[in-house]
Amino acid sequence: MRAENMIQKLPYQKPPYIVSNWKMNGTKALLAEVMRFWQPAASHLTWIFCPPATLIGHAKAYFPDIILGGQDCSAEPSGAFTGDISASQLADVGARYVIVGHSEVRLHNNATNADIAAKAKAAQSQGLTPIICIGEPEEVHRSGETLTYLKKQLDESLAGVHGEFLVAYEPIWAIGTGKTATINDIEHVHLFLREHLPKVPLLYGGSVNAANTRAILGVNNVDGILVGGASLKIDEFTQILRAGSAVGRNELP
Ligand code: PEP
Repeated sequence: MRAENMIQKLPYQKPPYIVSNWKMNGTKALLAEVMRFWQPAASHLTWIFCPPATLIGHAKAYFPDIILGGQDCSAEPSGAFTGDISASQLADVGARYVIVGHSEVRLHNNATNADIAAKAKAAQSQGLTPIICIGEPEEVHRSGETLTYLKKQLDESLAGVHGEFLVAYEPIWAIGTGKTATINDIEHVHLFLREHLPKVPLLYGGSVNAANTRAILGVNNVDGILVGGASLKIDEFTQILRAGSAVGRNELP
């Protein structure tokens, strides 16, 4: 590793991002319950809460200070796309961010890299900041071709995308499996991403939990985390927010 590329993280220049993705889980009742714990814990960090789209307007009405994001959006502005949600509809109910290119959407909707770039541009056109997800499948990880795979995914998913966006590195084999990438692997990939995207906030996602949050946020060139399953557990996510706050206050472990 070249010495000039080992950009040191601490002291934190900016508060870390914590993006929570509830996927297709959660109700108004759960939202009311969890906010009692989470709002006070979320200081010194940028917490972007991505509940199902059905809860965004409700969350905004009851908790006006929280930053909300959608979990996906259509590349189309409106029309006969039953079941889809446009970027303007997300913005209309209070979202400021939207996840695009999550591996579950790529898989279940056969979304291509070009589709993801189109969604990111549609989001930006409505004032939303896209959180663009990339990540390799397990066989690519095993073959040692991760960076080649990510480079293509990055080039194609960011084609024509300018302005503000975040990138989340989420190895597919680590999502919802309990198999977190090693600190060395995360550092290696994030250094590669930083070389290509010097000014873009870079997140890691994949089985982040309360026990590994601080270590992951301490990795060079990791600006935040994207949390799925653990963001649905009240105690665990409270601890994740507290750990993120401690990192944001530059408290070393
Ligand atoms: C995700 O949904 O993007 C994710 C990383 O999930 P999990 O934290 O459950 O692995």
